[in-house]
Amino acid sequence: MEILKTHDLCKTYGSSDAKVEALKNINLTVQQGEFVAIVGASGSGKSSLLHLLGGVDRPTSGQVVIDGTDLYSLSETDLAIFRRRKIGFIFQAYNLIPVLSAEENIKLPMLLDNRQADESYADELMNVLGLKERKHHLPNQLSGGQQQRTAIGRALINKPSIILADEPTGNLDSKNSKEIVDLLTFSVRKYNQTLIMITHDSNVAKRADRIVNIKDGVLYEQQAGGQHDA
Ligand code: ADP
Ligand code: MG
Repeated sequence: MEILKTHDLCKTYGSSDAKVEALKNINLTVQQGEFVAIVGASGSGKSSLLHLLGGVDRPTSGQVVIDGTDLYSLSETDLAIFRRRKIGFIFQAYNLIPVLSAEENIKLPMLLDNRQADESYADELMNVLGLKERKHHLPNQLSGGQQQRTAIGRALINKPSIILADEPTGNLDSKNSKEIVDLLTFSVRKYNQTLIMITHDSNVAKRADRIVNIKDGVLYEQQAGGQHDA
């Protein structure tokens, strides 16, 4: 089943002399349950694409359809709600709230949605993420890997159908990188989620079902890596 589809997605920043055509007619289709890696040189348009897929920016033209909903036809309010319920974001910079504990950071999206945190799922996540003994710690009391695992917990707490990750292992050593990818692939297989991840790391990319390459704002499909853990 198709979960995400873009139609001639374009993004241009600035105007006249300062104009940058960051994305040119991107047509990408992703199936539910798929793990897609996005690779490409710095400045090729990867983050621009991920932001548009997640409804955090507006395209210059074209569409993003997720689960039958045309994202950019929604009002800002409806888009924010859609994003919070359907999409989990993970960034290279962990973007944790410094005054909240690991546990509070993880539960934040549910609170923002005026929902009771699902305590048993939150506990399960913290166990799987190896944060059980660290849940009352503040972000600055956690290692980089633990901070990223907290950010992953926060992205997963609402059981989003799509997880968008922008170089989530970019600041981590190879051991922590592998653990993070293990956790993400475990979660997406278990909950039949879709994972779209930007990465510079070929060891990470080759674990995806499919690799797409971006070059100067143009998308190229690549041979599948297809190393499943399941
Ligand atoms: P990547 O993530 O692959 O490094 P980006 O999507 O961040 O690439 O950037 C693609 C191009 O768009 C680059 O040339 C970048 O300088 C430009 N760009 C990105 N964001 C902005 C912005 N907010 N304003 C102007 N130009 C931008
Ligand atoms: Mg980027």
